[in-house]
Amino acid sequence: MMTVMVLCYTGPVTNQTPPPVLRFAPSPNGHLHLGHAYSALLNASIARELGGRLLLRIEDIDITRCRPDYERALREDLAWLGLEWDEPVRRQSEHFGDYARALDRLQALGVLYRSYASRKEIAMAIAGQEWQGDPDGAPLYPREALRAIDDPAQHGPQAAFTLRLDMERALELAPPLGWKEYRPDFTAAETVPAEPEKWGDVVLSRKEFPTSYHLAVVVDDALQGVSHVVRGRDMLHATAIHRLIQHLLALPEPAYHHHPLILGQEGEKLSKSIASKSLRALKAEGATPGDIRKLVGM
Ligand code: GLU
Repeated sequence: MMTVMVLCYTGPVTNQTPPPVLRFAPSPNGHLHLGHAYSALLNASIARELGGRLLLRIEDIDITRCRPDYERALREDLAWLGLEWDEPVRRQSEHFGDYARALDRLQALGVLYRSYASRKEIAMAIAGQEWQGDPDGAPLYPREALRAIDDPAQHGPQAAFTLRLDMERALELAPPLGWKEYRPDFTAAETVPAEPEKWGDVVLSRKEFPTSYHLAVVVDDALQGVSHVVRGRDMLHATAIHRLIQHLLALPEPAYHHHPLILGQEGEKLSKSIASKSLRALKAEGATPGDIRKLVGM
């Protein structure tokens, strides 16, 4: 009798989780200042501590304000500070197709609608009323009052429109969401309940820009495998929208740490005049990378 041996090679057993991926994601619409330096250095230091990688991502969807010379300058400034990152760098303006595909998926879920109302029409719709604002202070979109203006049947195929998230419908498709807000060493976290409804029907794309920050950041973090998002506290509340979009697009949830702002109202030691100066201005005045680290408390 012949014995047949079946050898089944499954390869090395790897149950290790991939190394952490962090990113620093500036917009090249001006020169970097101390606030950016702090965020970039903190990302680099956490990446090092966790044995992870740091990516640089250029968030240049606002093509009217972002400029290649600012990008060149920010790369120089970051290199001067001693930062290293993987190349090639993702530049959002080169990936509008990715955001269009994400919008198609949201469209298929029925959570987008076209809004045609101008700023003036929005202002008129809420004039004289006590109207709720979003966490950034902008008025929530008065969808009901603008239904007639937003009726697509009233507009020709060439009419410019904005794609908004139908928050009510999106919330119907999502369980209560939250995120883990970690300490800077990522050892312990508290769960923060997400309240995306506070933002109302946020804009996800406009005629001039085929994606919004909220959509691009969520799509990119997922596509780039970003596991740890370390950014300023000014983005804390926006994380609720990001979690909702992640849920709708079935994307993974990164770990978050929102760091204090150098230019916040929390009694920072820096004087405003120093803090608002660009890194290159400080360098021209003789500051060294070490001085910058000291100034931002690193
Ligand atoms: N481009 C954004 C900024 O410069 C980045 C925000 C984020 O890290 O999610 O504020």
